Amino acid sequence: MTSVDELMDYAEVVERFDPVLGLEVHVELHTNTKMFCGCANLFGGEPNTHVCPTCLGLPGSLPVVNGKAVESAIRIGLALNCEIAQWCRFARKNYFYPDMPKNFQTSQYDEPIAFNGWLDVALDDGEVVRVEIERAHMEEDTGKSLHVGGATGRIHGAEHSLLDYNRAGVPLIEIVTKPITGTGARAPEVARAYVTALRDLLKALDVSDVRMDQGSLRCDANVSLMARGATEFGTRTETKNVNSLRSVERAVRFEMTRQAAVLAGGGRIVQETRHFDESTGSTSSGRTKETAEDYRYFPEPDLVPVAPSREWVEELRGTLPELPWERRRRVQQEWELTDAELRDLVNTGALDLVAATVEAGTTPAEARSWWVSYLPQQANNRGVELAGLAITPAQVARVVALVNSGELTNKMAREVVNGVLDGEGEPEAVVEARGLKVVSDDSALERAVDEALAAQPDVAAKIRDGKVAAAGAIVGAVMKATKGQADAKRVRELVIARCS
Ligand code: ADP
Ligand code: MG
Ligand code: ZN
Repeated sequence: MTSVDELMDYAEVVERFDPVLGLEVHVELHTNTKMFCGCANLFGGEPNTHVCPTCLGLPGSLPVVNGKAVESAIRIGLALNCEIAQWCRFARKNYFYPDMPKNFQTSQYDEPIAFNGWLDVALDDGEVVRVEIERAHMEEDTGKSLHVGGATGRIHGAEHSLLDYNRAGVPLIEIVTKPITGTGARAPEVARAYVTALRDLLKALDVSDVRMDQGSLRCDANVSLMARGATEFGTRTETKNVNSLRSVERAVRFEMTRQAAVLAGGGRIVQETRHFDESTGSTSSGRTKETAEDYRYFPEPDLVPVAPSREWVEELRGTLPELPWERRRRVQQEWELTDAELRDLVNTGALDLVAATVEAGTTPAEARSWWVSYLPQQANNRGVELAGLAITPAQVARVVALVNSGELTNKMAREVVNGVLDGEGEPEAVVEARGLKVVSDDSALERAVDEALAAQPDVAAKIRDGKVAAAGAIVGAVMKATKGQADAKRVRELVIARCS
């Protein structure tokens, strides 16, 4: 076991040091086929069933570039405000690892397809930080190793390892930021917000599944500290394995507190990769970092250069969808939201759900009334994300329609929604099964009103004297007698009519 790291209190860290971040995000494209061969690009599947001589690196096999992957790379570059290379090549990054059968990764080195861009990132309170993009380049994924027999699933202590090459050769785009400076205490939040914004962008572009839990979006977080007021960057560590948005924030914060303690104690930071451990929220030392020279990069001789014509690039620019921030601005106007209301929708993940509910026929206000208070409570109670609730926007829209047509009261609508969430079927089925129907039959209501008036003669007398405010007590009694299934407004009308 390694010793427990000493950590510095976070407030002291940011008082004494300025953090510098560098984020490397790998995104797996969801093309039909792999980057350099015709194998299916599918997550999972029986091990070693989506393989061929090319992605297994067998002698004599030759790669061919996937045109769709190049197209996605250019669209990503354009959406990130990058310049697109006139001409660029692939390079071989040489190293040995069992999950990489060719013993080199076909990547791009000093000639990336896209470079010099930026992404504006909104923090939780609405402040916007511009993150500069150094480059976005094309490469291929490795296979997967499964280490068997150890306690941790890591190679240390394992009895043997299994290799699955289904993922070998899956198209990847690596997006690398320039060093992000000046974020101070908010560095961990900036890191999370950047990956979130990038994920939303890639989703809107429809180029990837962007599932961090399945590894189709992965983030390595570089962190260094420099003493307050220093002009030269400190030595960075690169934390790998960060597979959720929350972990990105935690990993950066942990590294800041760890590095600060080392530096304050007179120690030095070693440039190395580190692993993030979800269960403890800490990072541990991996391998000392190779430098570019170690990889012996050289241009890939088996592939022709990629030289996208300007016409093609402009044509692809025309295929860019409405991007997340443009959509937010439009929605804010159309739905007449304040900045805070919009931010709330974005931060709770409700924006898409509200939009889909509006699409299914409600007004924005009706959709928001469900997705901003009642449904988040239910999600919270059930320990799931809002989007993970077992109700669809279309079902919410149908419940709203039942309320609007007078068939359900608001209270009953909540019960219907609970039924749907509990797996009792479609809203209409829940209405049926739970016997939820507004009692609108006037004769039944009149009977209940008469009974309530007879039970409270003094109140009845007051109403007859014109004190209509007293009607509330009778309405309450009728609602109770009908188990809340009457329309309170109609009951009130009947009470007053009976007493005049
Ligand atoms: P590597 O090949 O080591 O992964 P990359 O250039 O791909 O290097 O990525 C390094 C990342 O770290 C980039 O985002 C870069 O901006 C960032 N970076 C460089 N120097 C520092 C530093 N001193 N502190 C924090 N981040 C840094
Ligand atoms: Mg890198
Ligand atoms: Zn293949």
